[in-house]
Amino acid sequence: MQNGNPTVASILDGNKRSIARAISAIENGDQEITDLLKQLFPNTGHALIIGVTGAPGSGKSTLVDALAAHYRSSGETVGIIAVDPSSPFTGGAILGDRIRMQNMATDAGVFIRSMAARGHLGGLARATADAIAVLDAARYDKVIVETVGVGQDEIDIVKTADVTVVVLVPGMGDDIQAIKAGIMEIGDIFVINKADREGVLRTERELESMLSIADRPDGWKQPIVKTVAVRADGVNELADAIQAYARFLKEDGSSANGRRASIAEHRIKEMLRDQLLKRALEKGISESEFKDLARMVAERRRDPYSAVEEILDRLGIL
Ligand code: GDP
Repeated sequence: MQNGNPTVASILDGNKRSIARAISAIENGDQEITDLLKQLFPNTGHALIIGVTGAPGSGKSTLVDALAAHYRSSGETVGIIAVDPSSPFTGGAILGDRIRMQNMATDAGVFIRSMAARGHLGGLARATADAIAVLDAARYDKVIVETVGVGQDEIDIVKTADVTVVVLVPGMGDDIQAIKAGIMEIGDIFVINKADREGVLRTERELESMLSIADRPDGWKQPIVKTVAVRADGVNELADAIQAYARFLKEDGSSANGRRASIAEHRIKEMLRDQLLKRALEKGISESEFKDLARMVAERRRDPYSAVEEILDRLGIL
């Protein structure tokens, strides 16, 4: 690190303070971090990125901790990013009271970080993708991205993972119905956590019947793993299922490339959108002009279509 700022070398070295500072800069939307990210990029692509999502209270963090412990016991290093799209707080707030902090915070092979919405241009999904890249470059073998909740933001975030794990709990029949639109398609592996509770079989059956209708174009059959995260029961099976899917992606080159290519496509579009908006607000129209324009549109004195065209014209891209 120079002047306390993270450098490429310090990140590649796995310096935790550098990693934390780089992620803070990403979160704050600091422009200077882009140069660092550019240089880190060629050093990424080694980690297996595992996305874990599910409703609040389903046991995601307990499960992620157990999974991380499993990887540590086999000598693999683990980076964990816990993302809370609904929270403006960051830097440990949502992790503060977790067992993981006591068990793993002192382990050199584990990096844990929470990220939250800061309302900066580009959004949380992009910031998360950048943070993943930092941990990947820092040579963590597994990077686990845990998202709180099951909304569109979470879907966008886990979409950037190689393997997506959806966590459900027994007796969530109605919720399965409610969330299936987005989550069911993106789940590569389904976990029924809290399998020590009643209703496991019913939930399993409902899930099976739902998965049987949703045919995946890549031919992967999504496994259902039952876990009791608090006792680490079923965690070996979950790790096996994750590995099996990673192997499937590797062997089936077309879907591996297809998946990473479609993630890259999505990322480039998002970044382009951000940059275009940023340029438009910097160069195309001043803030006061923008406010005036908005008022005129609100008062029906102008239409928004021609307003946007005018801004694009000023940027020379109409
Ligand atoms: P998250 O909000 O999805 O991250 O859920 P947490 O990991 O914070 O877990 C929510 C609560 O469920 C905590 O009190 C956990 O101890 C409890 N919990 C997690 N896994 C299990 C499980 O397998 N069985 C039971 N009975 N409780 C669990």
